[in-house]
Amino acid sequence: MKKFLALILIATVIFGCNTSSNTEENILNTEQLVIASETTVKGQRLSLIADQPIKNVIFMIGDGTGIAQLYSGQLQEVGPNGYLHAQRLPITGIVKTHAEDDLITDSASGATAYSCGIKTKNGVIAQDSDGNECVTLLELSQKAGMKTGLVATSGVTHATPASFATHIDSRNKYSEIAEQLVESEVDVILGGGLEYFLPLDSAGSNRADQLNLLSNFEEQGYAIVLNRQAMIEENSDKIVGLFSPGGLPSENRIPSLSEMTSKAVENLSSKENGFFLMVEGSQIDWGGHANNTPYVLREVKDFDDAIGVVLSFAEQNPGTLVIITSDHETGGMTINGVNRENTVVDIAWASTGHTGTPIPLMAYGPHAVEFSGWWDNTDIGKKVADLLGFENFPLVLTEGN
Ligand SMILES: [Zn+2]
Repeated sequence: MKKFLALILIATVIFGCNTSSNTEENILNTEQLVIASETTVKGQRLSLIADQPIKNVIFMIGDGTGIAQLYSGQLQEVGPNGYLHAQRLPITGIVKTHAEDDLITDSASGATAYSCGIKTKNGVIAQDSDGNECVTLLELSQKAGMKTGLVATSGVTHATPASFATHIDSRNKYSEIAEQLVESEVDVILGGGLEYFLPLDSAGSNRADQLNLLSNFEEQGYAIVLNRQAMIEENSDKIVGLFSPGGLPSENRIPSLSEMTSKAVENLSSKENGFFLMVEGSQIDWGGHANNTPYVLREVKDFDDAIGVVLSFAEQNPGTLVIITSDHETGGMTINGVNRENTVVDIAWASTGHTGTPIPLMAYGPHAVEFSGWWDNTDIGKKVADLLGFENFPLVLTEGN
């Protein structure tokens, strides 16, 4: 009998875990990470600051970024005793991320939870699951007279930036999202995705029609910049910067996320009314899907450098609330062992997709303390709206309202 029970136990261990969509070969796909031999501290740990009216909100999303992605980035870049910029904020929270129709969210539903404060189906951009548009934090900020910006290392038509300024039933309708961005009146839009703004007969276009959205942007009063130098020199009120056909290259990225973020902050802070800026480290997720540890770590560094830019602005402008979080974890990444000398870590991956593991949030600035604790992702959007004095949020537009 004992033998029989032992057999059942072994069978459970072998087969019991294999109930997810993962195949056995991509579970425990391990890679090695070399730990930094010197300790680096990227800046002072920040303190709580006195509550005061919030003038600016900078909402940063590391797509696919869980605790292991950040901690791996720490080990490689600043060593076990160092601190990344992401680790300097005084408040941390934990965010649960499920979509309306799935325990595991995608980036469209995940970003809509933040931008609109509602649950929706995976794949849907700033609409409820019946196809009704929801009003976003960015749109309410515009109504309140604030400047607005979107910065991403993916195409700017990708799910996360799109969910703050456009409304559509499928994240894959990139051409329509591009058309909506032209009409969005977002003051600063920086990232990749040029292919959806060029007419069909232009080299590098991915559109099926002859719309030239760069011309349309110009008609709306935007300056268009297509390289780093032009971006740095451009001082127009409204700027669109598109620096690659699709996502920005991960290696030798020009401009970097921190350079784009720096430009956005410089532009948006030039007016009195304050601003709402969303910055996405888009490709931490892509590295996770590929179970590619060096890719993830390169992207965590790029994101963290941008966090550094944001924190130094926020320190000098105390009415700035900084929220740094993610939309979901990607890859089931974990720290799985270390060699005897404590110099090399095994990174293990449990999935090539998104996971349902709750994700970290860090906050700094006025009212940051209110972001401590466990949250549903929609409640983060609601909290930001509340702090900015936006009434009637969440708001889904149906006939009759
Ligand atoms: Zn993803």
